[in-house]
Amino acid sequence: MTESKKITDTRSDKVKRISALDGAHIWHPYASFTPPIAPLPVLRAEGVDIYLEDGRKLIDGMASWWCAIHGYNHPILNEAVDNQIKKMSHVMFGGLTHEPAAELARTLVEITPEPLNRVFFADSGSIAVEVAMKMALQYWLSLGKPGKCRFATVRNGYHGDSFGCMSVCDPINGMHEKFSNVLPPVHFLPAPQLGFSLPVAEDDISGIQELFTAKHQEIAAFIIEPVVQGAGGMRIYNPHYLQTLRRLCDEFNILLIFDEIATGFGRTGELFASHHARVSPDILTLGKAICGGYMTLAATLTTDKISDGISSGDSVLMHGPTFMANPLACAVALASTELLLAGPWQERVKAIEDTLSETLTPLKNLPQVADVRCIGAIGVIEMRQPVDITTAQPVFIEAGVWLRPFGHLIYCMPPYIVSDSQLHQITCAMSDTVNALPLE
Ligand SMILES: *Cc1c(COP(=O)(O)O)cnc(C)c1O
Repeated sequence: MTESKKITDTRSDKVKRISALDGAHIWHPYASFTPPIAPLPVLRAEGVDIYLEDGRKLIDGMASWWCAIHGYNHPILNEAVDNQIKKMSHVMFGGLTHEPAAELARTLVEITPEPLNRVFFADSGSIAVEVAMKMALQYWLSLGKPGKCRFATVRNGYHGDSFGCMSVCDPINGMHEKFSNVLPPVHFLPAPQLGFSLPVAEDDISGIQELFTAKHQEIAAFIIEPVVQGAGGMRIYNPHYLQTLRRLCDEFNILLIFDEIATGFGRTGELFASHHARVSPDILTLGKAICGGYMTLAATLTTDKISDGISSGDSVLMHGPTFMANPLACAVALASTELLLAGPWQERVKAIEDTLSETLTPLKNLPQVADVRCIGAIGVIEMRQPVDITTAQPVFIEAGVWLRPFGHLIYCMPPYIVSDSQLHQITCAMSDTVNALPLE
Protein backbone atom coordinates (compact mmCIF):
# COMPACT_ATOMS: atom_id res chain seq x y z
CA MET A 1 0.00 0.00 0.00
CA THR A 2 1.34 3.44 -0.87
CA GLU A 3 1.78 6.05 1.83
CA SER A 4 -0.95 8.32 0.39
CA LYS A 5 -3.44 5.46 0.04
CA LYS A 6 -2.82 4.62 3.71
CA ILE A 7 -3.51 8.26 4.70
CA THR A 8 -6.71 8.32 2.61
CA ASP A 9 -7.91 5.07 4.15
CA THR A 10 -7.15 6.20 7.71
CA ARG A 11 -8.90 9.47 7.01
CA SER A 12 -12.00 7.82 5.61
CA ASP A 13 -12.09 5.36 8.55
CA LYS A 14 -12.05 8.33 10.91
CA VAL A 15 -14.82 10.13 9.01
CA LYS A 16 -16.92 6.98 9.09
CA ARG A 17 -16.34 6.49 12.81
CA ILE A 18 -17.29 10.11 13.68
CA SER A 19 -20.37 9.94 11.46
CA ALA A 20 -21.42 6.60 12.92
CA LEU A 21 -21.08 7.82 16.52
CA ASP A 22 -22.84 11.07 15.66
CA GLY A 23 -25.63 9.25 13.89
CA ALA A 24 -26.07 6.84 16.80
CA HIS A 25 -26.06 9.29 19.69
CA ILE A 26 -26.23 13.02 18.90
CA TRP A 27 -29.07 15.47 18.34
CA HIS A 28 -28.43 18.40 16.02
CA PRO A 29 -30.20 21.79 16.12
CA TYR A 30 -33.80 21.88 14.87
CA ALA A 31 -33.43 18.38 13.50
CA SER A 32 -35.14 15.07 13.69
CA PHE A 33 -32.84 12.46 15.19
CA THR A 34 -32.13 11.32 11.65
CA PRO A 35 -31.63 14.56 9.66
CA PRO A 36 -32.07 14.34 5.85
CA ILE A 37 -28.38 15.02 5.29
CA ALA A 38 -25.79 13.69 7.74
CA PRO A 39 -23.75 16.47 9.42
CA LEU A 40 -20.24 16.95 7.97
CA PRO A 41 -17.35 16.19 10.35
CA VAL A 42 -15.03 19.20 10.78
CA LEU A 43 -11.34 18.81 11.63
CA ARG A 44 -10.37 22.45 12.17
CA ALA A 45 -11.04 26.00 11.04
CA GLU A 46 -8.67 28.82 10.14
CA GLY A 47 -9.42 32.34 8.90
CA VAL A 48 -12.68 31.99 6.96
CA ASP A 49 -12.04 28.36 6.05
CA ILE A 50 -13.61 25.27 7.57
CA TYR A 51 -11.50 22.14 6.99
CA LEU A 52 -13.51 18.94 6.85
CA GLU A 53 -12.20 15.63 8.12
CA ASP A 54 -12.46 14.22 4.60
CA GLY A 55 -9.89 16.73 3.31
CA ARG A 56 -12.27 19.24 1.70
CA LYS A 57 -12.17 22.93 2.56
CA LEU A 58 -15.21 25.24 2.71
CA ILE A 59 -15.38 29.04 2.87
CA ASP A 60 -17.65 29.88 5.77
CA GLY A 61 -20.50 32.11 4.63
CA MET A 62 -22.28 31.84 7.99
CA ALA A 63 -19.61 32.94 10.50
CA SER A 64 -20.95 30.03 12.55
CA TRP A 65 -24.37 31.60 13.05
CA TRP A 66 -23.22 35.26 13.03
CA CYS A 67 -20.50 34.76 15.68
CA ALA A 68 -17.04 34.32 14.13
CA ILE A 69 -16.62 37.93 12.97
CA HIS A 70 -12.79 37.79 13.04
CA GLY A 71 -12.61 34.33 11.48
CA TYR A 72 -11.29 31.18 13.12
CA ASN A 73 -8.10 30.44 15.01
CA HIS A 74 -7.21 34.11 15.38
CA PRO A 75 -3.81 34.60 17.04
CA ILE A 76 -4.98 37.50 19.23
CA LEU A 77 -8.07 35.67 20.48
CA ASN A 78 -6.06 32.48 20.99
CA GLU A 79 -3.58 34.46 23.07
CA ALA A 80 -6.38 35.89 25.23
CA VAL A 81 -7.62 32.36 25.93
CA ASP A 82 -4.08 31.07 26.62
CA ASN A 83 -3.31 33.89 29.04
CA GLN A 84 -6.57 33.52 30.90
CA ILE A 85 -6.55 29.72 31.10
CA LYS A 86 -3.24 29.84 32.98
CA LYS A 87 -4.89 32.02 35.65
CA MET A 88 -8.29 30.33 35.88
CA SER A 89 -10.84 29.02 33.42
CA HIS A 90 -13.68 29.53 35.82
CA VAL A 91 -14.72 30.59 39.28
CA MET A 92 -18.26 31.00 40.56
CA PHE A 93 -19.64 34.54 40.28
CA GLY A 94 -21.67 34.47 43.48
CA GLY A 95 -19.64 36.53 45.94
CA LEU A 96 -16.55 36.62 43.69
CA THR A 97 -15.55 38.86 40.79
CA HIS A 98 -12.57 39.19 38.43
CA GLU A 99 -10.73 41.47 36.05
CA PRO A 100 -12.03 40.00 32.75
CA ALA A 101 -15.66 40.57 33.84
CA ALA A 102 -14.94 44.04 35.21
CA GLU A 103 -13.06 45.22 32.12
CA LEU A 104 -15.58 43.68 29.74
CA ALA A 105 -18.46 45.37 31.56
CA ARG A 106 -16.67 48.72 31.34
CA THR A 107 -16.09 48.23 27.60
CA LEU A 108 -19.69 47.20 26.89
CA VAL A 109 -21.02 50.20 28.79
CA GLU A 110 -18.66 52.48 26.81
CA ILE A 111 -19.67 51.23 23.37
CA THR A 112 -23.43 50.69 23.83
CA PRO A 113 -25.94 53.58 23.80
CA GLU A 114 -26.23 55.74 26.92
CA PRO A 115 -27.58 55.48 29.55
CA LEU A 116 -27.09 51.69 29.64
CA ASN A 117 -24.61 51.17 32.46
CA ARG A 118 -25.49 47.97 34.35
CA VAL A 119 -24.47 44.56 32.99
CA PHE A 120 -25.73 41.06 33.73
CA PHE A 121 -23.54 38.34 32.17
CA ALA A 122 -25.45 35.32 30.92
CA ASP A 123 -24.22 32.12 29.33
CA SER A 124 -26.27 32.18 26.12
CA GLY A 125 -28.42 34.54 24.10
CA SER A 126 -31.65 32.90 25.16
CA ILE A 127 -30.75 33.35 28.81
CA ALA A 128 -29.86 36.99 28.20
CA VAL A 129 -33.38 37.46 26.82
CA GLU A 130 -34.94 35.61 29.78
CA VAL A 131 -33.02 37.94 32.09
CA ALA A 132 -34.18 40.99 30.11
CA MET A 133 -37.79 39.85 30.50
CA LYS A 134 -37.31 39.18 34.22
CA MET A 135 -35.75 42.63 34.66
CA ALA A 136 -38.81 44.24 33.08
CA LEU A 137 -41.24 42.22 35.21
CA GLN A 138 -39.30 42.78 38.41
CA TYR A 139 -38.99 46.51 37.73
CA TRP A 140 -42.76 46.94 37.63
CA LEU A 141 -43.19 44.62 40.64
CA SER A 142 -40.80 46.79 42.67
CA LEU A 143 -42.77 49.85 41.66
CA GLY A 144 -45.96 48.27 42.97
CA LYS A 145 -47.41 47.56 39.52
CA PRO A 146 -47.71 43.76 39.36
CA GLY A 147 -50.40 44.15 36.68
CA LYS A 148 -47.74 45.14 34.17
CA CYS A 149 -46.81 41.54 33.46
CA ARG A 150 -47.31 40.97 29.73
CA PHE A 151 -44.99 41.50 26.79
CA ALA A 152 -45.62 43.02 23.41
CA THR A 153 -43.63 42.42 20.25
CA VAL A 154 -43.86 42.19 16.48
CA ARG A 155 -44.37 39.16 14.28
CA ASN A 156 -41.37 37.56 12.56
CA GLY A 157 -39.20 38.05 15.64
CA TYR A 158 -36.72 35.51 16.95
CA HIS A 159 -35.46 35.75 20.52
CA GLY A 160 -34.26 32.28 21.47
CA ASP A 161 -35.49 28.81 22.33
CA SER A 162 -36.25 28.77 26.06
CA PHE A 163 -39.87 29.25 27.18
CA GLY A 164 -39.87 32.99 27.89
CA CYS A 165 -38.02 33.60 24.63
CA MET A 166 -40.31 31.33 22.65
CA SER A 167 -43.34 33.26 23.84
CA VAL A 168 -42.06 36.39 22.04
CA CYS A 169 -40.87 34.59 18.89
CA ASP A 170 -43.12 34.69 15.84
CA PRO A 171 -46.18 32.65 16.81
CA ILE A 172 -46.55 31.04 13.40
CA ASN A 173 -43.31 30.86 11.45
CA GLY A 174 -41.37 30.70 14.72
CA MET A 175 -40.04 27.29 15.47
CA HIS A 176 -42.25 27.16 18.52
CA GLU A 177 -45.75 26.75 17.25
CA LYS A 178 -45.78 23.36 18.96
CA PHE A 179 -45.62 24.90 22.42
CA SER A 180 -48.24 27.58 21.97
CA ASN A 181 -50.52 25.92 24.53
CA VAL A 182 -48.00 26.36 27.33
CA LEU A 183 -46.57 29.75 26.41
CA PRO A 184 -47.81 32.89 28.19
CA PRO A 185 -50.03 35.11 26.00
CA VAL A 186 -48.19 37.95 24.26
CA HIS A 187 -49.46 40.96 22.29
CA PHE A 188 -48.28 40.67 18.68
CA LEU A 189 -48.22 43.51 16.16
CA PRO A 190 -47.56 42.98 12.45
CA ALA A 191 -43.85 42.98 11.57
CA PRO A 192 -42.58 46.41 10.52
CA GLN A 193 -42.87 46.99 6.78
CA LEU A 194 -39.80 45.83 4.84
CA GLY A 195 -37.30 48.34 3.52
CA PHE A 196 -34.51 50.23 5.28
CA SER A 197 -35.20 53.37 3.23
CA LEU A 198 -38.93 53.05 2.70
CA PRO A 199 -41.02 55.33 4.92
CA VAL A 200 -42.51 53.72 8.01
CA ALA A 201 -46.04 52.53 7.21
CA GLU A 202 -48.84 54.59 8.81
CA ASP A 203 -50.51 51.33 9.80
CA ASP A 204 -47.41 50.21 11.67
CA ILE A 205 -47.52 53.35 13.79
CA SER A 206 -51.26 53.36 14.38
CA GLY A 207 -51.00 49.66 15.33
CA ILE A 208 -48.55 50.45 18.13
CA GLN A 209 -50.68 53.39 19.23
CA GLU A 210 -53.88 51.38 19.37
CA LEU A 211 -52.27 48.48 21.26
CA PHE A 212 -50.62 50.76 23.82
CA THR A 213 -53.79 52.81 24.30
CA ALA A 214 -55.84 49.70 24.99
CA LYS A 215 -53.35 47.57 26.94
CA HIS A 216 -50.59 49.75 28.43
CA GLN A 217 -51.69 48.93 31.95
CA GLU A 218 -50.75 45.28 31.47
CA ILE A 219 -47.68 45.67 29.23
CA ALA A 220 -44.32 45.47 31.01
CA ALA A 221 -42.13 45.83 27.94
CA PHE A 222 -41.94 45.77 24.16
CA ILE A 223 -39.18 43.54 22.77
CA ILE A 224 -37.80 43.84 19.25
CA GLU A 225 -34.69 43.16 17.16
CA PRO A 226 -33.67 46.63 15.94
CA VAL A 227 -33.47 47.20 12.14
CA VAL A 228 -32.87 43.55 11.19
CA GLN A 229 -35.15 40.70 12.25
CA GLY A 230 -32.88 37.67 12.07
CA ALA A 231 -33.92 34.04 12.31
CA GLY A 232 -37.61 34.98 12.13
CA GLY A 233 -37.29 36.00 8.49
CA MET A 234 -34.13 38.05 7.81
CA ARG A 235 -36.23 41.21 7.43
CA ILE A 236 -34.72 44.71 7.24
CA TYR A 237 -36.85 47.72 8.22
CA ASN A 238 -36.61 51.48 8.59
CA PRO A 239 -34.85 52.63 11.79
CA HIS A 240 -37.39 55.46 12.12
CA TYR A 241 -39.83 52.78 13.28
CA LEU A 242 -37.70 52.51 16.41
CA GLN A 243 -37.85 56.26 17.06
CA THR A 244 -41.65 56.13 17.01
CA LEU A 245 -41.62 53.01 19.17
CA ARG A 246 -39.33 54.71 21.71
CA ARG A 247 -41.58 57.77 21.86
CA LEU A 248 -44.74 55.71 22.36
CA CYS A 249 -43.10 53.46 24.97
CA ASP A 250 -42.17 56.59 26.94
CA GLU A 251 -45.63 58.06 26.55
CA PHE A 252 -47.35 54.87 27.76
CA ASN A 253 -44.83 53.83 30.45
CA ILE A 254 -43.70 50.68 28.69
CA LEU A 255 -40.09 49.52 28.81
CA LEU A 256 -38.27 48.98 25.51
CA ILE A 257 -36.02 45.95 25.06
CA PHE A 258 -33.69 45.76 22.07
CA ASP A 259 -32.42 42.28 21.26
CA GLU A 260 -29.10 42.90 19.49
CA ILE A 261 -27.84 39.34 19.88
CA ALA A 262 -27.69 38.99 16.09
CA THR A 263 -27.13 42.62 15.05
CA GLY A 264 -24.53 43.69 17.63
CA PHE A 265 -20.80 44.18 17.02
CA GLY A 266 -20.95 45.73 13.57
CA ARG A 267 -23.01 43.24 11.56
CA THR A 268 -25.42 45.87 10.14
CA GLY A 269 -22.75 48.48 9.40
CA GLU A 270 -23.16 50.31 12.72
CA LEU A 271 -21.56 48.95 15.88
CA PHE A 272 -25.09 48.34 17.17
CA ALA A 273 -28.23 48.44 15.03
CA SER A 274 -29.82 50.88 17.46
CA HIS A 275 -27.20 53.43 16.32
CA HIS A 276 -28.98 53.60 12.93
CA ALA A 277 -31.94 55.08 14.80
CA ARG A 278 -30.00 56.93 17.51
CA VAL A 279 -32.40 55.35 19.95
CA SER A 280 -31.52 53.83 23.29
CA PRO A 281 -33.52 50.99 24.83
CA ASP A 282 -34.15 50.46 28.55
CA ILE A 283 -32.74 46.95 28.27
CA LEU A 284 -30.33 45.56 25.67
CA THR A 285 -29.32 41.97 25.01
CA LEU A 286 -26.01 41.00 23.41
CA GLY A 287 -24.61 37.60 22.46
CA LYS A 288 -23.44 35.72 19.38
CA ALA A 289 -20.48 37.83 18.09
CA ILE A 290 -19.62 39.08 21.61
CA CYS A 291 -16.82 36.47 21.90
CA GLY A 292 -15.86 36.45 18.23
CA GLY A 293 -17.34 32.96 18.13
CA TYR A 294 -14.91 31.47 20.65
CA MET A 295 -17.17 30.64 23.55
CA THR A 296 -20.69 30.92 24.81
CA LEU A 297 -21.37 34.25 26.46
CA ALA A 298 -24.12 36.85 26.41
CA ALA A 299 -25.02 39.98 28.31
CA THR A 300 -28.09 41.95 29.33
CA LEU A 301 -27.50 45.64 29.86
CA THR A 302 -29.83 48.08 31.52
CA THR A 303 -29.92 51.56 33.03
CA ASP A 304 -29.44 52.59 36.63
CA LYS A 305 -33.09 53.66 36.64
CA ILE A 306 -34.22 50.09 35.97
CA SER A 307 -31.62 48.38 38.14
CA ASP A 308 -32.18 50.79 41.05
CA GLY A 309 -35.91 50.17 40.68
CA ILE A 310 -35.45 46.40 40.83
CA SER A 311 -33.04 46.64 43.75
CA SER A 312 -35.17 49.05 45.79
CA GLY A 313 -36.50 47.64 49.06
CA ASP A 314 -33.74 45.01 49.13
CA SER A 315 -35.23 43.17 46.18
CA VAL A 316 -32.89 40.90 44.21
CA LEU A 317 -32.79 40.06 40.50
CA MET A 318 -33.76 36.40 40.44
CA HIS A 319 -31.24 34.89 38.08
CA GLY A 320 -27.74 33.40 38.40
CA PRO A 321 -26.36 30.91 35.90
CA THR A 322 -23.66 28.50 37.16
CA PHE A 323 -21.25 29.71 34.48
CA MET A 324 -22.17 33.38 34.86
CA ALA A 325 -19.35 35.69 33.66
CA ASN A 326 -17.06 32.76 32.84
CA PRO A 327 -13.55 34.32 32.97
CA LEU A 328 -12.31 32.59 29.78
CA ALA A 329 -15.34 33.82 27.87
CA CYS A 330 -15.05 37.34 29.31
CA ALA A 331 -11.32 37.50 28.48
CA VAL A 332 -11.88 36.48 24.88
CA ALA A 333 -14.92 38.80 24.56
CA LEU A 334 -12.78 41.69 25.75
CA ALA A 335 -10.01 40.79 23.27
CA SER A 336 -12.53 40.34 20.46
CA THR A 337 -14.18 43.70 21.12
CA GLU A 338 -10.84 45.50 21.34
CA LEU A 339 -9.71 43.81 18.12
CA LEU A 340 -12.90 44.95 16.38
CA LEU A 341 -12.64 48.54 17.59
CA ALA A 342 -8.93 48.79 16.74
CA GLY A 343 -9.46 47.78 13.11
CA PRO A 344 -11.24 49.33 10.11
CA TRP A 345 -14.36 47.19 10.69
CA GLN A 346 -16.75 49.83 9.38
CA GLU A 347 -14.97 50.04 6.00
CA ARG A 348 -14.79 46.25 5.79
CA VAL A 349 -18.49 45.80 6.53
CA LYS A 350 -19.34 48.55 4.02
CA ALA A 351 -17.21 46.86 1.36
CA ILE A 352 -18.97 43.55 2.07
CA GLU A 353 -22.35 45.31 1.81
CA ASP A 354 -21.40 46.84 -1.55
CA THR A 355 -20.29 43.49 -2.98
CA LEU A 356 -23.35 41.68 -1.64
CA SER A 357 -25.68 44.32 -3.14
CA GLU A 358 -23.91 44.31 -6.50
CA THR A 359 -23.80 40.56 -6.87
CA LEU A 360 -27.10 39.53 -5.29
CA THR A 361 -29.50 42.31 -6.37
CA PRO A 362 -29.63 41.18 -10.05
CA LEU A 363 -31.04 37.83 -8.85
CA LYS A 364 -34.25 39.71 -8.02
CA ASN A 365 -35.18 39.37 -11.70
CA LEU A 366 -35.30 35.59 -11.56
CA PRO A 367 -38.81 34.14 -11.43
CA GLN A 368 -38.00 31.86 -8.46
CA VAL A 369 -36.73 34.79 -6.36
CA ALA A 370 -39.22 36.81 -4.28
CA ASP A 371 -36.80 39.39 -2.88
CA VAL A 372 -33.15 40.24 -2.29
CA ARG A 373 -32.14 42.23 0.79
CA CYS A 374 -28.71 43.39 1.93
CA ILE A 375 -27.46 45.42 4.88
CA GLY A 376 -23.95 45.47 6.31
CA ALA A 377 -22.43 42.00 6.19
CA ILE A 378 -25.82 40.33 5.62
CA GLY A 379 -27.04 39.18 2.20
CA VAL A 380 -30.45 37.56 1.88
CA ILE A 381 -32.24 35.92 -1.04
CA GLU A 382 -35.88 35.14 -0.36
CA MET A 383 -37.21 32.41 -2.64
CA ARG A 384 -40.84 31.98 -3.63
CA GLN A 385 -40.72 28.34 -2.53
CA PRO A 386 -39.16 26.83 0.60
CA VAL A 387 -35.53 25.87 -0.06
CA ASP A 388 -34.99 22.13 -0.20
CA ILE A 389 -31.78 21.59 1.76
CA THR A 390 -31.10 18.23 0.11
CA THR A 391 -30.94 20.01 -3.28
CA ALA A 392 -29.19 23.15 -2.05
CA GLN A 393 -26.46 21.74 0.20
CA PRO A 394 -24.64 19.65 -2.45
CA VAL A 395 -24.58 22.69 -4.76
CA PHE A 396 -22.77 24.97 -2.38
CA ILE A 397 -20.49 22.24 -1.04
CA GLU A 398 -19.51 21.63 -4.67
CA ALA A 399 -18.78 25.38 -4.93
CA GLY A 400 -16.53 25.13 -1.84
CA VAL A 401 -18.78 27.20 0.41
CA TRP A 402 -20.62 26.64 3.69
CA LEU A 403 -24.14 28.09 3.81
CA ARG A 404 -27.22 27.00 5.72
CA PRO A 405 -30.50 28.09 4.11
CA PHE A 406 -33.72 27.94 6.14
CA GLY A 407 -37.35 28.27 5.14
CA HIS A 408 -37.53 30.37 1.96
CA LEU A 409 -34.17 31.99 2.64
CA ILE A 410 -30.67 31.56 1.25
CA TYR A 411 -28.47 34.02 3.08
CA CYS A 412 -24.88 34.73 4.07
CA MET A 413 -23.29 36.51 7.01
CA PRO A 414 -19.56 36.00 6.49
CA PRO A 415 -16.75 36.83 8.91
CA TYR A 416 -15.69 40.48 8.42
CA ILE A 417 -12.20 39.34 7.37
CA VAL A 418 -13.59 37.64 4.24
CA SER A 419 -11.58 38.66 1.14
CA ASP A 420 -13.22 39.97 -2.04
CA SER A 421 -12.51 36.76 -3.93
CA GLN A 422 -13.84 34.61 -1.08
CA LEU A 423 -16.96 36.75 -0.93
CA HIS A 424 -17.47 36.36 -4.68
CA GLN A 425 -17.16 32.62 -4.24
CA ILE A 426 -19.91 32.79 -1.60
CA THR A 427 -22.26 34.90 -3.73
CA CYS A 428 -21.60 32.68 -6.79
CA ALA A 429 -22.54 29.65 -4.71
CA MET A 430 -25.72 31.46 -3.63
CA SER A 431 -26.72 32.18 -7.21
CA ASP A 432 -25.77 28.62 -8.30
CA THR A 433 -28.07 27.34 -5.59
CA VAL A 434 -30.89 29.64 -6.69
CA ASN A 435 -30.53 28.36 -10.24
CA ALA A 436 -30.41 24.72 -9.13
CA LEU A 437 -33.74 24.99 -7.32
CA PRO A 438 -37.02 24.23 -9.07
CA LEU A 439 -38.81 27.21 -10.62
CA GLU A 440 -42.23 27.03 -8.97
C1 LIG B 1 -29.53 33.65 18.31
C2 LIG B 1 -30.44 34.63 18.90
C3 LIG B 1 -30.95 34.47 20.21
C4 LIG B 1 -30.66 33.24 21.04
O1 LIG B 1 -29.32 33.11 21.34
P1 LIG B 1 -28.74 31.67 21.79
O2 LIG B 1 -27.31 31.95 22.12
O3 LIG B 1 -28.91 30.77 20.60
O4 LIG B 1 -29.52 31.22 22.94
C5 LIG B 1 -31.78 35.46 20.72
N1 LIG B 1 -32.08 36.55 20.00
C6 LIG B 1 -31.62 36.75 18.75
C7 LIG B 1 -31.98 38.00 18.02
C8 LIG B 1 -30.80 35.79 18.15
O5 LIG B 1 -30.36 35.97 16.90
